[in-house]
Amino acid sequence: MDIEEFRKAGYAAIDSICDYYASLRDRPVKAQVEPGYLVDKLPKEAPQKGESFDLISKDFKDDILPGITHWQSPQFFAYFPANSTFEGMIADLYSASVSNPGFNWVCSPACTELEQVVVEWIAKMLGLSESFWGSSGVGGGIIMGSASESAFTAAMAARERALRQISREKGVQEAENGQVQVPDEIRNEYSQKLVVYGSTQTHSLGAKAALMLGLPFRPVAVSVKDSYSLRGEDLRQAMEKDKAAGLVPFLVYATVGTTSTGAVDNIGEIGEVMKDYPTTFLHVDAAWAGVAYALPDYRKALRLDEINLYADSFCTNFHKWGLTTFDCSIFCVRDRKDLTQTFDVTPAFLRSKEADAGTVIDYRNWQIALGRRFRSLKAWFVLRSFGVQGFQKHLEAGIEQCQQLAEVIRSSSNFELVTDPSLALLVFRLSPHSSNTNTDTASSSSSSSTHPSQSDDILNILNQRLHDRLNARYDVFLTQTVLHSKERNIFCIRFAMGGVYTTFEDVLKTWKVVEQVGEEVLRTWEE
Ligand code: PLP
Repeated sequence: MDIEEFRKAGYAAIDSICDYYASLRDRPVKAQVEPGYLVDKLPKEAPQKGESFDLISKDFKDDILPGITHWQSPQFFAYFPANSTFEGMIADLYSASVSNPGFNWVCSPACTELEQVVVEWIAKMLGLSESFWGSSGVGGGIIMGSASESAFTAAMAARERALRQISREKGVQEAENGQVQVPDEIRNEYSQKLVVYGSTQTHSLGAKAALMLGLPFRPVAVSVKDSYSLRGEDLRQAMEKDKAAGLVPFLVYATVGTTSTGAVDNIGEIGEVMKDYPTTFLHVDAAWAGVAYALPDYRKALRLDEINLYADSFCTNFHKWGLTTFDCSIFCVRDRKDLTQTFDVTPAFLRSKEADAGTVIDYRNWQIALGRRFRSLKAWFVLRSFGVQGFQKHLEAGIEQCQQLAEVIRSSSNFELVTDPSLALLVFRLSPHSSNTNTDTASSSSSSSTHPSQSDDILNILNQRLHDRLNARYDVFLTQTVLHSKERNIFCIRFAMGGVYTTFEDVLKTWKVVEQVGEEVLRTWEE
């Protein structure tokens, strides 16, 4: 393809994307294909001779689009949103046009410096304290591909920091550069004794990070009474048990906005407990809810002051409820040395005079990979085009829709809210003749009565059936979850709002389907 052919194909691609977006509301949200549909259809080997781009574009429409689940549909309410915007898409196009791996400042100064600027804009917009700002010269932020990657990066940094701390305690002196080199014997003795903590509600990223380091993950139990929030004393008990067994606590994953219910861990209590364990590192995973710090009214409930006081690192995904086209995960640290002392491995070919002079950031030293995408461009385009106020308006719309739907569910005789609405997330279940209270604040339902509303076991079966039936359809897409707590296990269904183009009519359209399928489930249950 030459420049003029690209011009033509590029215009045509934009036209076809516009047509796709104009049609989104009328498309079923889920792909209507069976497993293997594409593998069976496409040739088994790459073509020997180049094909015409018209044909390739046509095949995108005919073969690929039918297998796409429409995350950008206004009626997508599964998982959490992965919002894309036209600003983000154009930025990604420009980013592809200057495609470069930007690992060192010198590789493309704009890539590094725009990232520094944009991440600091974001830290300020969210109300993160100055210690997390790059301009502090101590903390700073970087854009990752995912919250899991941020969490694993934090885990590696936490492990190295813990080993340095242990080395210091064992009398190892700092070298001239101020760093403590961890002796092999300490690394060998302690690196397999380290333990990671979270709660039973922590995203699977916690267990996965521990797995990748070959270390145990302790999912601490939470209580319904605490709205599924991790409490300090429960964490302390788990840590004490490990200490008694000769193990060393080194990392806690606290969550703001858990995936299942949007719960917020008690970061203040966790931080206080961690003071008694000097080898520990606190990473706050606010992958979904973190963008809501842009709304000052929500900061207290989301424990921002506690994060500012206690967290070592913080992550939120601007590609979820934010507006920044996948992928754009903001990862901020209180002390950038936690990263550079972990990831700075510099062979001669990666050196530059600017880095040697200490006047620039080389982001490769803040992350696992060497090369990196130019993600700051889309965050920059989005924040400039929407402005902070436009961004806030978008968040408020999702919260407002969630509150409206909560009212509808509260007045329903067949459904109940399982927890209080959390920002733009609702968790509900079918519970016929339910009173208008939340499941978790209602009295215990351990009765042996066979009436569905009186037994979690029966309601779990009923709701599994409801979800199976919903899942068999293509016009709605909702995710199930199971809430494990000290008291009970509840199968329920999540309704995640916050899509860029979603209106309350879209929400109601899906809810009407849920109501209708719920009635069918109850009818067949009674037969
Ligand atoms: N943390 C929470 C609370 C989430 O809800 C999710 C995904 O929904 C993640 C982490 C994982 O995010 P990522 O796919 O960016 O790793």
